[in-house]
Amino acid sequence: MAVQTETSNKFLNYINGEWVASNTNEVNTNTNPANTDDVVGQIQKSSREDLDKAVTSAKGAKKEWKELSGAQRGQYLYKVADILEGRLEEVAECMTREMGKTFPEAKGETARGVAILRYYAGEGMRKVGDVIPSTDKDALMFTTRAPLGVVGVITPWNFPVAIPMWKTAPALIYGNTVVLKPATEAAVTCAKLFECFEEAGLPAGVINMVTGPGSVIGQGIAENPDVNGITFTGSNTVGKNIGQEALGRGAKYQLEMGGKNPVIVAPDADIDLAVEATISGGLRSTGQKCTATSRVIVHSDVYDEFKEKLVAKVKEITVGNGLNDGIWMGPSASESQLNTVLSYIEKGREEGTLLCGGERLSGGEYDKGYFVAPTVFEDIKSEATIAQEEIFGPVLALMKVDDMEEAIELANDVEYGLSASIFTTNIQKMLSFVNDMDAGLVRVNAESAGVELQAPFGGMKQSSSHSREQGEAAKEFFTSIKTVFVK
Ligand code: NAP
Repeated sequence: MAVQTETSNKFLNYINGEWVASNTNEVNTNTNPANTDDVVGQIQKSSREDLDKAVTSAKGAKKEWKELSGAQRGQYLYKVADILEGRLEEVAECMTREMGKTFPEAKGETARGVAILRYYAGEGMRKVGDVIPSTDKDALMFTTRAPLGVVGVITPWNFPVAIPMWKTAPALIYGNTVVLKPATEAAVTCAKLFECFEEAGLPAGVINMVTGPGSVIGQGIAENPDVNGITFTGSNTVGKNIGQEALGRGAKYQLEMGGKNPVIVAPDADIDLAVEATISGGLRSTGQKCTATSRVIVHSDVYDEFKEKLVAKVKEITVGNGLNDGIWMGPSASESQLNTVLSYIEKGREEGTLLCGGERLSGGEYDKGYFVAPTVFEDIKSEATIAQEEIFGPVLALMKVDDMEEAIELANDVEYGLSASIFTTNIQKMLSFVNDMDAGLVRVNAESAGVELQAPFGGMKQSSSHSREQGEAAKEFFTSIKTVFVK
């Protein structure tokens, strides 16, 4: 595949319909984690003042945007979708260069961004309330929905198109204005999304982007009294702090955080399917998905067969620069991410038995990037660090069990509850799993990663603040219900 490598690009903040430099005159330079000589672009290292300007502009645009009909707002989203679709390969290439996921995955994610925009554009024509019978025969009682006002959107680097879109598109369609702070490590890709919003001609101030350190811009969004709602995806530590700030000043908030997602392989499972799905769910995107498979709990009757097939296939995985043909897995997204993964691998060596991988890849092109071999451990106890903490890397931990009750117990024995899968052909086992698994996404004969865009997405326990994103669930977060009584 021929992909042109761009020369260095400088990206500004997008505030009140204009591209503006930060008053700090400082920038962050983002490089390709597969080849650190490749400069993807420079982004603004903004200040609280820059953020305040963006919030003021979003506040100023609230009334005009809210007064449009849902269908009119939808027309803008359809335009953004068409423009993004026209730039799909360019945006996907930027994503691959900026955070390392392979080009086919990046194209799939950008196409998902387009589909999300079209889905929410259509929502502008759907019902927003119910008529409720009043006990007073002369009265009309109904519900309608009001936007929150200014919504602060804080996003991680692992899905730099899909996550900003699945937060921003519903925020806009239900009449909110937006200030978005993308993850620093994926901010160039996000700037390209904003070029699409600009070209679609949304009124000035309706959508704003400010890049910069999380502790300054993200924290500033959490604290700003003019931000009426905050939607955050990222780590637990940061999320909990944002939740406290928002709660303290009465802002609505939604936190989507980490996962430690199990797969159970029952004795009656289709083993080949389970192996494929464990590899895809655990190692695609270099394991950097909140829904990535991490704990692999296998019944002793099929343990040896599963292990042998899994390890053989993992050893075949091609690792390299995700822009190159034939590469299945790219690098870790950053040096710090790589170091975190390597330290968990060291821990895994103490806690269990290494079956394959277990090292940073080196030599030739590997020396230019942050590559780690896909890694599988066995003999891992449930309480082990690598079985409990989110690694966010290509590491699988195998655990053997003798019965299905124990399997579900182990699957639940973590503080997270985002996604969980079972592989079985037995309906009773499927139903027990669906009933007993404490996870927001419960999947049968399907990998733990992935959910369709029209279905609710979110976790239980420490994975989420328990609201849901996507589909109709988004309406619950991005609006407030008004109960109307007319006599
Ligand atoms: P992160 O460090 O928490 O960062 C997420 C966002 O928060 C970034 O924009 C970051 O900005 C910002 N931020 C950092 N410090 C902040 C602060 N003090 N106040 C406000 N905002 C702050 O997470 P990440 O490393 O980007 O993403 C990985 C995590 O996201 C994993 O735990 C993963 O499970 C989770 N995730 C969850 C879901 C889900 O839907 N449940 C989906 C994807 C990812 P900077 O980039 O400038 O630091």
